[in-house]
Formats: sequence, C-alpha cells, structure tokens
Amino acid sequence: MMYCSEKKIVIVGAGIGGVTLAAQLSSLGIDCDIYEQQKSLSKAGFGLNIQPTAVSTLYRLGLSDQLNSIGIQTRAHRYVDHLGNLLFEEARGIEAGFDTPQISISRAELLKLIFSIVKDKQAFHFGSAFSDDPFNKEEWANKLIVGADGIHSTVRRALFPDTTELNSGNIMLWRGMTIMPRLLDGRTLIIANGENGVRLVAYPMSKSHDLCAESFVNWVILVPKSYETLPDTAINRFQATGFLLDLLKEWHLDWLDIRTLITMSKTIMRTEMVDKQPLEKWSLGQCVLLGDAAHPMFPVGANGATQSIIDAETLAYALYEYPDFESAIAAYEHIRIPAVSKIVMANRKMNERDLMLKNLNSQERSQEIAITTTNYETETIKDIFGTN
Ligand SMILES: Cc1cc2nc3c(=O)[nH]c(=O)nc-3n(C[C@H](O)[C@H](O)[C@H](O)COP(=O)(O)OP(=O)(O)OC[C@H]3O[C@@H](n4cnc5c(N)ncnc54)[C@H](O)[C@@H]3O)c2cc1C
Repeated sequence: MMYCSEKKIVIVGAGIGGVTLAAQLSSLGIDCDIYEQQKSLSKAGFGLNIQPTAVSTLYRLGLSDQLNSIGIQTRAHRYVDHLGNLLFEEARGIEAGFDTPQISISRAELLKLIFSIVKDKQAFHFGSAFSDDPFNKEEWANKLIVGADGIHSTVRRALFPDTTELNSGNIMLWRGMTIMPRLLDGRTLIIANGENGVRLVAYPMSKSHDLCAESFVNWVILVPKSYETLPDTAINRFQATGFLLDLLKEWHLDWLDIRTLITMSKTIMRTEMVDKQPLEKWSLGQCVLLGDAAHPMFPVGANGATQSIIDAETLAYALYEYPDFESAIAAYEHIRIPAVSKIVMANRKMNERDLMLKNLNSQERSQEIAITTTNYETETIKDIFGTN
C-alpha cells in the first residue's frame, strides 16, 4: 500500500456516494471522517436503480446477499404507449449478459445497508454541516476534502463558484411509492409514453413485497413544464392526485391500475428535472468532488446513484495506490470525468428523444426507441465498462 496514512481524508455528505466511499476506504484500511448535515442517516427518498457495474462494486463490499434480499433484480425495461401496447423491450442486468444484476431498490434501504457495514469503522459526524471555505482555514490544510454533498454542493461552490447554475430539462417529476398487486412478472420496469409527452416510469423495488405476491412500486410521472398549472408551493395531496389523474385520464393499462397507483401512494413529491453542465475538472488543490456534487444528471438513464458508487470505488483505489493525494486525484479524474460527462450528455439526448416521441406514429416510435436505447447502452455502459 502506498497511501500516506498521516494525512486525513474528510468526506462531506453521507449520501450514497459518501457512505460508499467511507466503506471502500475502510475495506482498504484507510480512515476517514464523514460530516453530514442531517442529524442522522437520511431515511428520505424513493426508488433507485443500480446498474450492474455498481452492483459489482457493492458485491465486492460483501453486500450481495443483503442486496438481493432487499431489492429486485430487474429483468427488463418495457416501453409501451398510453394504452399499454408494446413499443420495445430491452433485457437488463443478467438477462442482458452482465455477470451481476441491475437492482431496483429503495434509496433509504440501500443507504442503510451500506452504512451498516461501515458505521462502527469510520468517524461519522451527524448534524455537522460543512460551511467553510476549505482553502481559508488551517484546520483543513493537509487534509483531503471530498465533496460528496449532492446537487447543491457547498464544496463545489467553494471550488468552482461559477458552476452552480442548474440546467432545466423542462420537465417536472412527480414521484410516489405504492403497494399493489404484483406488477407484471415483478421484475420489469415500465416506461409508458403518452400522446401528450407525459411519461410514466414504474418499477417494483422490494423483495419482501414480491414474496407476498405484491409489488412496492416506485413511480415517476414526467410532465412537460408547459402542462404545469399548479402553484409552486403549498400543493396538497388532493390537488396533486387530481392533477395527475386528469393528466392521465385517457390512459389505460390492463396490467396497472393507474388510479390506485396515484391515489394509494403514501407520499407524492414534485421536483424539477435538472442537471449541470459537465466540468472539465472535479478538483482544486486537495479538494475533490464525487457523485451528484461533481456531475448531477437527468434521471432518465437510471444512472445517478450508480455513477456515485463507481466514483467512490475508483477514488478509494486511487488513494490506496498512489503515494500522494495529487496523483490519486489525477488518476481518479482521468478515469471518471470523460466517462461520466458522456452519460450526462447522453441523458440530455435521451430526454430530448422522449419529448419528441409524441410527434411520431406507433411504428416510428418503436423504431426510435430501439435505436436510441441501444445507442445509449453502447455509448454509456458497454462502451465504457464492458459488459462483464
Ligand atoms: C434526501 C434525498 C432523497 C433522494 N431521493 C432520490 C430518489 O428518490 N430517487 C433517486 O433516483 N435519487 C434520489 N436522490 C438522489 C440520489 O441519491 C443521488 O443522485 C445519488 O445517489 C448520488 O448520491 P450522492 O451521494 O452524490 O448525493 P446525495 O445522495 O444527494 O447525498 C448528499 C448528502 O450530502 C449531505 N450534505 C449536503 N450538503 C452538506 C453540507 N454542507 N455539509 C454536510 N453534508 C451535506 C446531504 O444531506 C446528503 O446526505 C435523493 C437524494 C437525497 C439527498
């Protein structure tokens, strides 16, 4: 091991990326401190998809049994129109030739799981918001600061103050989670495209529900901003369900009761779909960014958490292998910046494609989805990481 152990690593943010980095460092015998603004580990969030490459990272941390007992091994992404007619189906995970599955899972459950293997091994400081300028305090000299503090990153603001602007995808995301009878085979992610540009993404994400012939369905309704008539604040549940049911009133899927999906969700949340322009550098001096802090992306490629997990493994191994922080950061940036920037841009392209599908007839839509979905896979996943 080349790592110089008298230098300390500080991670800002105990989200998926920060906690995975802490676990990776622990497995390599490297200590770190983690500062998290919330008083305890976040229980917030809806569902996430972890792509096979990142699942492999989590398996290497010894989490394979637990992951598979909590999440769902997603078999396929099925594209349909608003009446449920099949447009295209794409195999995923093991069914697509990977050694490991794609796993659909609750964000809170995943975070709790990764935290469980590292909580007693690294120094977590909950309720500690990092608000310093890391360059102007002696306390931080000689330390590596890793900004894993999410899309509104304080560390990024200190490093690159001109790069905080959010880029809008002109879409509002309405999210919910609903327990229902098993959705199809219990392992299929649905992407339904409406005539009006509205999309629905829905997938089961809980193994325990599946074992009871149910699905705990994570769903997102993507609504072009031009359709939004509700005020920005103070939307109550009644307004939200009314708005969404009206928007999907012409939809009919034999195998998914949309009314139940929307009205029986425990919570409904609305956010805007945003990303940021890819950066050419993720570091300055001994500060470096990871996960959403470095590269927030549109969620259309189901890649945000995946990339933060791969960032964490890459950075941990670079810190292990190189004798100084500077070389380790350079190696990490060399591997990760081109790969992830490509995904951010591919997600933008995919969003544009999805928005123009409404102008096509059914056959053209199927062709367009088949071509762009295959290209996305080639450009972003298989091309960069290899299938196995
Ligand atoms: C509450 C929450 C809910 C989410 N829900 C979903 C979801 O339902 N579906 C989905 O696909 N993605 C969700 N995401 C995003 C998803 O988790 C990330 O895209 C992905 O996992 C990358 O993770 P990350 O670790 O880079 O950032 P994040 O997961 O955003 O984690 C960043 C962490 O940094 C902490 N933090 C921020 N600022 C500071 C500071 N100044 N000092 C100390 N700590 C700080 C935050 O509290 C947070 O815990 C959610 C993120 C959060 C924070």
